[in-house]
Amino acid sequence: MSPVILKTIKIRKRYLVALVLLVFLSFYLTGVQSDRAERQAVEAMSQALASRVIVVDPGHGGVEPGVVGKSGVQEKEITLAVSKLLADNLARAGAMVLMTRETDGDLSDPATAGLTAKKREDLERRVAVANDNRADLYISVHVNSFPDASRSGARVYYQPGAIQGGKAGRHIQSEISQVLKNTGRQPAEVDYYITRNTSMAAVVVEAGYISNEAEEKLLLDPIYQSKLAWAIYAGAVKYFAVENPPVQDPPGNEKVIQTFKEQEKQILKEP
Ligand SMILES: [Zn+2]
Repeated sequence: MSPVILKTIKIRKRYLVALVLLVFLSFYLTGVQSDRAERQAVEAMSQALASRVIVVDPGHGGVEPGVVGKSGVQEKEITLAVSKLLADNLARAGAMVLMTRETDGDLSDPATAGLTAKKREDLERRVAVANDNRADLYISVHVNSFPDASRSGARVYYQPGAIQGGKAGRHIQSEISQVLKNTGRQPAEVDYYITRNTSMAAVVVEAGYISNEAEEKLLLDPIYQSKLAWAIYAGAVKYFAVENPPVQDPPGNEKVIQTFKEQEKQILKEP
């Protein structure tokens, strides 16, 4: 090859590299811009949270570690970290936030003996925090685990047939997909003790799979935790701003009638 042709190829290569970099940069900047636009849109709607009562429930705690990752990290640690960040976001927007726990403890009476009895009492009291305070939204944060280590992605669950729970669940799932950009999961219906017995819009956010090595690392990363918390917060903002649910939905709503009252036996199923 003549030196002239070689030189031309070299120059072209340089242009090509520059062009590829430019394309990546513009994609990156577009992403940053749309993230910023999303944050601005959510903040503009955030007054919809003012004076709403929101219960944030960090899953497990105390004698109940929840699922455990390869690194030894326990679900209850991650749920508390994410929940605190979520509560901060909600409170800053003017919501009245109640956390079911702020330390590594469960809600059962220390005098109650036996793990099953403690567990039942713990769940009953979590539900009571929401029902007794006539909350508008109940968000329980959990972490998932599955035998197949390839499974990943956060997913939101709500009580089968629950109209408000379903709406809140869809908004939160949609924000999770948009903000974290690592899952296309859809919200799903599951009959859990806490979503069945709370008499307002209630969701369980399974923040991801601790059984997936990469996701376990993400769930331990404070930056990822704050993104996750922000996504849940953004979903809550949109739920109130877009759906404008009735203020403090009284007991006797569709969920209670369809499931709780028909069910004689209270099944203790937890996320
Ligand atoms: Zn859990």
